[in-house]
Amino acid sequence: MTVKRGPKNPEPQEWLSSELSQNYVADYKPFNFVDGEGVRCSLYVSGCLFACPGCYNRIAQNFKYGKATQPSSRIRLWLI
Ligand code: SF4
Repeated sequence: MTVKRGPKNPEPQEWLSSELSQNYVADYKPFNFVDGEGVRCSLYVSGCLFACPGCYNRIAQNFKYGKATQPSSRIRLWLI
């Protein structure tokens, strides 16, 4: 028997980045054409608890996937 699972649906304030984040960044694209209209930069932070069926990026659900970074300061440098 297959159990159909939907994504997890937290209450507001239930999942706090201040408690969950391990300060890892999965990827950064300075010029991105695929995440919407126009040209943009995209920063992909690591870690996700939603568990969507058919997740397109299961590896990045791990909060320690990618590169370790410092909160805010390193990310600010990447964006310059
Ligand atoms: S990373 Fe996967 S599980 Fe998380 S929101 Fe995106 S599709 Fe859903």
